Amino acid sequence: MKKIPTVGLIMFLLFTLTGCEEQREIKYDRDFFAMDTYITCQVLSADEELAEQALDAVETAFMQIDRITNRFEQNAEISAVNQNAGVAPVKVSEDFFAMVVAALEWSDKTGGAFNILIGGVMDLWGFGSENPAVPDEQAIKTALTKTDCHKIILDAKQSTIYLPEKGMVMDLGGVAKGYATDKAVAALKKLGIKNALINAGGNVYALGSRADGTPWKVGVQDPRNPQGITALLQGRDTSLISSGDYQRYFEKNGIRYHHILDPANGYPARLSSGTTVISPSSTIADILSTALFVKGPQAGIALAESFAEVNAVMIIDEEGRIFATGDLNKYMAEQQPSP
Ligand code: AMP
Ligand code: MG
Repeated sequence: MKKIPTVGLIMFLLFTLTGCEEQREIKYDRDFFAMDTYITCQVLSADEELAEQALDAVETAFMQIDRITNRFEQNAEISAVNQNAGVAPVKVSEDFFAMVVAALEWSDKTGGAFNILIGGVMDLWGFGSENPAVPDEQAIKTALTKTDCHKIILDAKQSTIYLPEKGMVMDLGGVAKGYATDKAVAALKKLGIKNALINAGGNVYALGSRADGTPWKVGVQDPRNPQGITALLQGRDTSLISSGDYQRYFEKNGIRYHHILDPANGYPARLSSGTTVISPSSTIADILSTALFVKGPQAGIALAESFAEVNAVMIIDEEGRIFATGDLNKYMAEQQPSP
């Protein structure tokens, strides 16, 4: 008489045949501090060693880009470029050169709303320092004379960058996190990671999906309520990057002075309180979240509709009203807390 296989044996055969056991992914996460920002990363993997390698790669990408773009760090490439303004061209790394090229391209595409020579004006305001203050109007006017990006001299063959006038100060704070995110995502893909979430202070990339197969969800902070969200978005294989006047600011006489400056006048841009840009490229989304903030809801949305690289944009105006490109609804999630 034949013996009936036990339930255990059946299970064993099922797992072996379908490979189910192998595919069970676990979430591994890591938090670290870079670029003046608290960064969190979650990676799904069936292999703990690979997951740790992936988290290392993400951290390395942010640390590396931080090291070259931190202009308060003496040895950073950006410091060499700034110290040599009006003196000599400076040889820079491939990453640094690529970041500047992207920044200049999108500066033109946004009519100068994005301006990496805003550094001198930023310094006058002192955001992030112990005592930020409203600068003297004349000082702002003088600093603005050193912000013409078209004067920057790039030599792709030599990989050099030259700021031709003394007093020009480059600031890559509006693009570095996005660029680092793209590098981190490329590293994850190279390692074979299919599902991960990177969040660098509202600078998010959603790779693949969550463990249950549903898309990653991203809350967009309500600019006037640190505990609330204005929208819950979701996406796969895309970046969702937010900028806002709530990220770095000080208040004086009831007026909020924040870190996104309008290059046209050197004062904090006033038409928006928050922007979110959804694009496969984090570099572009980071640049545009800053540039469209400056443009404001009307001009910003119209401009965003013309960019093929952008999937959707949301701009919150000073009064909390929401403006969006037609495709934003494709990224709206149910407003309930994600598990
Ligand atoms: P984000 O948080 O990405 O919006 O970038 C803001 C940072 O970008 C600031 O802290 C400055 O370092 C820099 N920044 C401010 N205003 C501008 C601007 N209009 N164009 C380019 N960079 C800017
Ligand atoms: Mg930005």
